[in-house]
Amino acid sequence: MDALLNILDSFQSGLKEKKPIQDFFAIAKEMIIPSYPFLESKIENHKAVFSKEWDQLISAFKEAHIFEQFIPREYGGQKTSELDIYCLMELLGYASPGIGIIFVSHSRAIDIVCRGNQSQKNEYLPRMAGGDLGAIAMTEEKAGSDASAIGLIASQADHQYLLNGQKIFISNSGLAKIYSVLVNTRGTKGPRSLSLFLVDDPSPGFSVEALPEKDGLKVLPTGRLIFKNTPVPLKNLVGEEGGGLFLTLGVIDQGRIHIAGICCGLAYRIFREIYQYALQRRQFDHPLTSSQDISFQIAEMYSKMNAARGLCLQALQHIGSPQYRLCSSQAKLFASQMVMEVAAQAQILMGGRGYLRNDLINQLAADARGMEYLEGTSNIQKMIITSELFKMYHKEKEEVP
Ligand SMILES: Cc1cc2nc3c(=O)[nH]c(=O)nc-3n(C[C@H](O)[C@H](O)[C@H](O)COP(=O)(O)OP(=O)(O)OC[C@H]3O[C@@H](n4cnc5c(N)ncnc54)[C@H](O)[C@@H]3O)c2cc1C
Repeated sequence: MDALLNILDSFQSGLKEKKPIQDFFAIAKEMIIPSYPFLESKIENHKAVFSKEWDQLISAFKEAHIFEQFIPREYGGQKTSELDIYCLMELLGYASPGIGIIFVSHSRAIDIVCRGNQSQKNEYLPRMAGGDLGAIAMTEEKAGSDASAIGLIASQADHQYLLNGQKIFISNSGLAKIYSVLVNTRGTKGPRSLSLFLVDDPSPGFSVEALPEKDGLKVLPTGRLIFKNTPVPLKNLVGEEGGGLFLTLGVIDQGRIHIAGICCGLAYRIFREIYQYALQRRQFDHPLTSSQDISFQIAEMYSKMNAARGLCLQALQHIGSPQYRLCSSQAKLFASQMVMEVAAQAQILMGGRGYLRNDLINQLAADARGMEYLEGTSNIQKMIITSELFKMYHKEKEEVP
């Protein structure tokens, strides 16, 4: 069974050579998986507060040089390959999807800083390599899927901008030290009105508040950011004024593959639990797996999981190519729907136990549902896929003599 489901299977075997990643597997196995049901966060007095296992985890991540894996060498990191990072995400999806999202948000913030100017890289990347976490703040009450409706205003005053407004649903709220915040610098609606700023925590007039409790992903602190005349120096503008949305959307393509990887890891965990259960649970004098209907469901779950992983690997191969956005959206769409289907089927196969609030399958299923919203909902992925297909079709038509 372990050989069949081992997350370290054939395509990841090269990673066994890499010390930090090896250590990370040990941390996941010895610390994250056993503490999964107890790891929770809440936001109190501006800060994310965790159950006690968290501090030990952060120390273990630092000791294993995990934060450095995301950062280029010249800024104090040991940047590893995109495949390695993808594998970390799958493993985190298996061990604790909420911690996976903490790392996805952190790594997107790093990607933003990497697109900044030299002094921004010099200032922020070494801090991030040392464990100062980042976050990406786009969503607002009136701007969810439609980021062009962002209303958080940044007005220029002397040698700084003053930020006023709120963001909601922000992962790593109260935990991050560096927030990449998409704001409106023109006062009018539209993609060209949006600019990107790096905001340090603490900053005057900046605070974090709790949102109502989530169903799943309990370890992930997700809160409201409040800006009241928060001064941000001109030097913290990333890229050009009015170029913030395009910059952010560029890094989200990568985030989609990582979310898809978390979905695959989570699906493997759910599958493993349900397969073991179906093998040992006997009804009508037979294990559940002896029913052809149930064995067919298991075959479908397993095939869909591997199909999702195939799309993720295809997307990784397309990094930097014109098909990258199409492939990463496709992977995210398929993987997030796959994990929700696998989770729903698993809950039914568990019978009444799958309906108990604190049952592991129920908790994992709540985590699976959360995957729908991250880095764009399924409908948004479909909009991206069709728009990319449309572009490809017209380009091909133009190229035909
Ligand atoms: C756990 C969690 C963590 C998050 N972390 C972050 C974060 O770190 N940073 C951040 O900025 N945001 C974050 N978000 C917010 C997330 O990005 C948004 O929830 C998501 O973009 C959807 O926006 P919305 O919730 O406002 O839904 P809406 O945009 O209001 O959409 C509601 C529904 O309508 C559909 N829909 C909307 N427009 C269309 C259309 N034109 N055609 C068809 N269907 C449409 C959507 O698919 C969805 O099903 C997080 C959310 C969650 C739940």
